[in-house]
This record gives sequence, structure tokens and C-alpha cells, in this order.
Amino acid sequence: MIDGKVTFSTVLSCDSLHCSTDSVRWAKRTFGTMEVDVITAPGMDGILAGMARADAEETLRRVKLEAERSARENGSTQCLIMGHCNCKANTVEYEEHKVHLEKAKQLVESWGFFPWVATGIFNPQWEFIRTAA
Ligand SMILES: [Zn+2]
Repeated sequence: MIDGKVTFSTVLSCDSLHCSTDSVRWAKRTFGTMEVDVITAPGMDGILAGMARADAEETLRRVKLEAERSARENGSTQCLIMGHCNCKANTVEYEEHKVHLEKAKQLVESWGFFPWVATGIFNPQWEFIRTAA
């Protein structure tokens, strides 16, 4: 808590409940904020990496809007982008998820909302693996 204010960070996660709830836990641990704004989309890392999908453009627009709101209204300066293995909405292999996360990081950094953008993935054993920052 800074000056009596609740601190927020931001998570961009797949909409799978397992991924989003565990991502929140890791964001709190990684960033030390009290609260986390969770923004979800099916196969989030793939969407942010420019994966071609019918809803991609619209989903990306919504995610960007919600990310901006998290930064502007809740003062979040830290963002964690998460991917996970065995994702039904982004069916690539583990190593390819890492490539998607790197592209996703570049995109989110280009938005300019968050000075700190980290990425991570839940591996096949559902362990949290930090992939950047
Ligand atoms: Zn998923």
C-alpha cells in the first residue's frame, strides 16, 4: 500500500480458469501489488502474437482498451502476460508459446501503458516458468 492506496498490477491471461487464477497468484508474488486486474481472452498469448483467428482483431481491441483502463484508472504499471501448455485456444507446442510470449511482450510494450512487462508460462507440469523480465 502506497499512501493508503490499493495497488494494482495487470494480468493478460488465457480465459481458462486454471490459468487466470494461478496467474493472479504469480502476479501478486512477482509484483507485490495488493490487487490484480485480470484481462482474459482464449489463447491470450497467441492473440497478442498476431495469431490469425476470426475474432482476433476485435479481441485485441478489447484487450488493449481494458489494459489502458487498468493503467489509467487503477494506476497499474506492471503487466504479466501468461500462456499455458495444453491450451485449447492456442494449441502450439511449449517452445512456440515462448515465441508467442516474446511477440506479445513487444506488442504490449509498444502500447506504452506499462513500464514493466513480464511474461510467463505454465509448463506441462503446471509449474510457473518466467520467460522474460
Ligand atoms: Zn488456454
